[in-house]
Amino acid sequence: MNKNIFIGGAWPYANNSLHVGHLAALLPGDVIARYYREHGDNVIYVSGTDSHGTPITVRAKKEGISPEKIAQHYHEEFVKNFKDLDFSFDLYTSTMTQYHEQNVKKYLKKIMDNGFIYKKAEMQDYCPECKTFLSDREIIGVCPHCGGVAKGDQCDDCSATLNASEVLNKRCSICHSPTIQKSNTHLYFALSKFQNKVKELNEQRQGQWRINATSETNKFLDMGLIDRAVTRQLSWGVDVPFEGFEDKKIYVWIEAVLGYLTAGQQVAESRNINFEEFMKKGNVISYYAHGKDNIPFHTVIFPALLMSIDENINLPDYIISCEYVNMNNEKMSKSKGNLISINHLIALFPKDSIRYYMLANGPETKDINFSIDDFVQIHNKFMVGVLGNFVNRNLSYINKKFDGKIPNGKVDENIKNLTTETFDKVGSLIEQGKLRQALDTAMAYVSAGNKYYDDQKPWIQVVEDINGFNNTTYTCVYMMANIANLFGPFIPDTCLKIKEKLNLDKTFTWQPVEIGKNLTVANNNLLFERLQAQQVSEKYQELKKN
Ligand SMILES: [Zn+2]
Ligand SMILES: [Zn+2]
Repeated sequence: MNKNIFIGGAWPYANNSLHVGHLAALLPGDVIARYYREHGDNVIYVSGTDSHGTPITVRAKKEGISPEKIAQHYHEEFVKNFKDLDFSFDLYTSTMTQYHEQNVKKYLKKIMDNGFIYKKAEMQDYCPECKTFLSDREIIGVCPHCGGVAKGDQCDDCSATLNASEVLNKRCSICHSPTIQKSNTHLYFALSKFQNKVKELNEQRQGQWRINATSETNKFLDMGLIDRAVTRQLSWGVDVPFEGFEDKKIYVWIEAVLGYLTAGQQVAESRNINFEEFMKKGNVISYYAHGKDNIPFHTVIFPALLMSIDENINLPDYIISCEYVNMNNEKMSKSKGNLISINHLIALFPKDSIRYYMLANGPETKDINFSIDDFVQIHNKFMVGVLGNFVNRNLSYINKKFDGKIPNGKVDENIKNLTTETFDKVGSLIEQGKLRQALDTAMAYVSAGNKYYDDQKPWIQVVEDINGFNNTTYTCVYMMANIANLFGPFIPDTCLKIKEKLNLDKTFTWQPVEIGKNLTVANNNLLFERLQAQQVSEKYQELKKN
């Protein structure tokens, strides 16, 4: 029976280019989506650009342009990046769309009706000089934990999450005047009411949520969940749909994360599917792919919001939360100038090498170290040496000796069994979000093909045992057809090229396929060219200059 699958990729924030860390966090979502589609299931895979909030506002002020212009610029760049890397979102949208805004308001009203949003007047930081209430990010001060430089919501030095009231020696980040306290009415979400339910969920999902997700959630729960402000004193964002809050916007933490629902609903509508029914507990399996720093939003805040909207809605089944990507053994950061952007990657490497590298070496359970040399080595070893070689050595021989006509033969029984086993094993690993192992297992299948070829010695068989030669070649082509499906979720463009080479059906299916008789080789263009580390490095230095 076809399953319903919901996949949410984290919403990148529109004030900077995407880098390899984002890619490592988001690619798993695409693999899982492609796999389930190949499997014949009903997939809704969504994400979008997180376009509101203070950092964009602050930057817009600095650059003297509108926040919308900044958000739109990065949104367009992200869309192009994802397209260049063959991401298969059913919808990649933005929090600036009218559809998102209208539906976020609808969900907010529902949460209010269900009694989980309340009003609270409280003293808030106010800058008498700028005559404005200050958002957390517009406050600078001293961290109560480490004495370091802190913003109103987070310490830059020790990364502690802070409440503006705890920060010491507060000043306005714009004019540096000391802040004063002034009464302001805000809406709050009763997150504290979900302490036990989130705890229960975290226990139920052990083994499905990655280990870092379970432990980060425990840390968060141990601190005790506290209610969070829903409204914010800002001019850039989604309007608050309640009277008396016209001067405020919906806080981005709640507005952006609800994007999973608004985007999912938009896809469902376009397919005439009832989204509420689709997302009901028991009707769907859900995956959320993001980086480690985003865990509490997906394991605590989002589930609490879901429960506050509808107690029958599915709660995240799988949390695919990755660790960090370091660059040449150093933490990547803008200030160090060692951030490698997706734009750079795309300029340096073939897209499927990028996908392969980031998935086969992904930071699933620990930080990984990225380096250009390592990348070149892995490309040459696996893309050229294992996969490219298997396809090329067979097809160029057929082209040379048989004018591109693939001899008919019989598929080796052991290889047939291995094929079935490999589909089962790789499929099960993808379903569990274990993509490194999944890709290793798929690559082992190609290596088995190379070993089979070496053991059979078709270059001798062709002289001494033509039947044996035909069977060997036919078996290798059978493997290629299956490789094209097996690798479909990981490196789809290469898989299409293999299908084209052999004039095969372009649809992807997650099961062993037979290849029929009298096939011909349409072309034997190389799948991958060997790269030189020196050349790539020089090109990268050149790119960094511009
Ligand atoms: Zn600190
Ligand atoms: Zn000020």
